[in-house]
Amino acid sequence: MIALSLAEIAAVTGGQTHDIPDTSVQVTGPVVRDSREVVPGALFVAFSGERVDGHDFAASVVEAGAVAVLATRPVGVPAVVVDDVQTALGALARHVVERLGATLVALTGSAGKTSTKDLIAQVLGGKAPTVFTPGSLNNEIGLPLTALSATEETKFLVLEMGARGIGHIRYLAELTPPKVGLVLNVGSAHIGEFGGREQIAQAKGELVESLPPAADGGAAILNADDPLVRAMASRTKAKVVLFGESAEADVRAENVRLTDSGQPSFRLHTPSGASDVTMRLYGEHHVSNALAAAAVAHELGMSATEIATALSGAGTLSRWRMEVTERPDGVTIVNDAYNANPESVRAALRALVAMGKGRRTWAVLGKMAELGDEALAEHDAVGRLAVRLNVSKLVAVGGIEASWLQLGAYNEGSWGEESVHVSDAQAAIDLLRKQLRPGDVVLVKASRSVGLERVAQTLAEAG
Ligand code: ATP
Ligand code: MG
Repeated sequence: MIALSLAEIAAVTGGQTHDIPDTSVQVTGPVVRDSREVVPGALFVAFSGERVDGHDFAASVVEAGAVAVLATRPVGVPAVVVDDVQTALGALARHVVERLGATLVALTGSAGKTSTKDLIAQVLGGKAPTVFTPGSLNNEIGLPLTALSATEETKFLVLEMGARGIGHIRYLAELTPPKVGLVLNVGSAHIGEFGGREQIAQAKGELVESLPPAADGGAAILNADDPLVRAMASRTKAKVVLFGESAEADVRAENVRLTDSGQPSFRLHTPSGASDVTMRLYGEHHVSNALAAAAVAHELGMSATEIATALSGAGTLSRWRMEVTERPDGVTIVNDAYNANPESVRAALRALVAMGKGRRTWAVLGKMAELGDEALAEHDAVGRLAVRLNVSKLVAVGGIEASWLQLGAYNEGSWGEESVHVSDAQAAIDLLRKQLRPGDVVLVKASRSVGLERVAQTLAEAG
């Protein structure tokens, strides 16, 4: 991070210094909320949660080298005391990004934020020092913490922004105002909380509303293939750059196909040239993510060849997203258990089938959460798709949603023995341990709360 004196931190956050003999002492970073991450020079942010109160760790973090604690009350060790630590953290992030020379890139969308953020980070990172959101830390706490980890050397700061309601992205974009804003898609993730796709589009579009005008370098990178995203062009003063497979896209893919191993390959077209890409990632949904990353990189001055080379070399940075394990006995496990929504399950099923050509394929699926009124229809549709794609076996894991998956398969293809409903992860593990044969390919996917990564991990180690 950029070094800041405690006096400066107090001024920026409107806080009072307590138990600090010399306020010119500098915090050199990192800024952390987890006491286990404290190293000498750190600023510890004392959040009070339901179970743990950060203030209880004040003495121990200072002992471990923290310069001070950002707190809501005096704690007997050096502290900057503020009314609200989250607001203070946001103000600090905003102050720091204003001083940085970095170009801020922010992205949001219903599915693929983290995958795309990782792609952007790898493409831009090959060009210049890049700091990016670790994992999925995309909320009002993770975002400022990430921004604060940037340094004077940082050229690009890539930030994932998540929204669970109207106003969330606007708030995040005020803390760390992006120059380039990317909206991937509007799907049904969190539709239950939002109330409908239009509302989701309303919320995600706040990102492009926040961008500076085109004359000041603002660029809105929008998915031409998603009508609700495409329509956001009218909500921004920034330059609009479209990506996608449709002909009107500025950055687009031609000759999209999946290689025999299920990896997408295509010709990347940009306004300044074209080049071939074969991805290391699995699943056709990554074509859209790759085009989004390409559009960002092109806007920031990279050539089609540079971008294509970087995309072809990019691997997974975040776990449990189409993580492929080849067991010694010839069984392939695809761990996509990080999360699931209808779009991503469909994409993952298609990838499974491409990877599993001529082999027996298993879809181990659980509930897709937060679908509201659409839950039954969406689970039913996924069950039907498994049949239509000729997946060999469906293992539906969990409660009522799993039975909807199974019912869809039954209604579409009179599936009886081809689909099994088991109650939980352990039952799935027991079943697959008995039934897997060399050469089988197994996809494991469900919403985060189902915790199916245990199934994938156990099976991956079992060979
Ligand atoms: P979260 O909201 O949990 O942070 P996210 O938007 O960051 O999710 P990822 O973590 O990249 O998304 O991916 C979540 C799931 O969506 C993964 O299982 C992945 O396979 C799938 N996915 C990735 N990209 C797309 C896409 N463009 N369209 C549909 N599904 C996708
Ligand atoms: Mg994410």
